[in-house]
Amino acid sequence: MKWLNRLAALLFGLISVGLIRDFFDKHTVIVLDKEFEEEEDDMEDITNLRPDNYDNSMDLRGTPTHVCACGCNIFNVKVIFDDYEIGTYFLDMECANCGSLATAPTPMDREGLDN
Ligand SMILES: [Zn+2]
Repeated sequence: MKWLNRLAALLFGLISVGLIRDFFDKHTVIVLDKEFEEEEDDMEDITNLRPDNYDNSMDLRGTPTHVCACGCNIFNVKVIFDDYEIGTYFLDMECANCGSLATAPTPMDREGLDN
């Protein structure tokens, strides 16, 4: 009887390992932090792409830039659409992270850098 129990336990263990191995071959397990999920939910609404306060904002206007001094490359810009495309945009823009004012780059600024 003792040997039979050990044999049954061994078979059960081998079958379990096989099932677990088969499960991980067919599936991918992703572990997500709950705080990360909540942050993702916050980012779904475009109205959240603005600074909480303007305590660290600066006036960086003057030199056209693609990146704010804080490292953020998302800006709030006022645009005018023409035939389903951006027709023109205001040169003053606001960093979506810190609220600093900056100058939007234009194609003419790129040509100026090439020369
Ligand atoms: Zn910024």
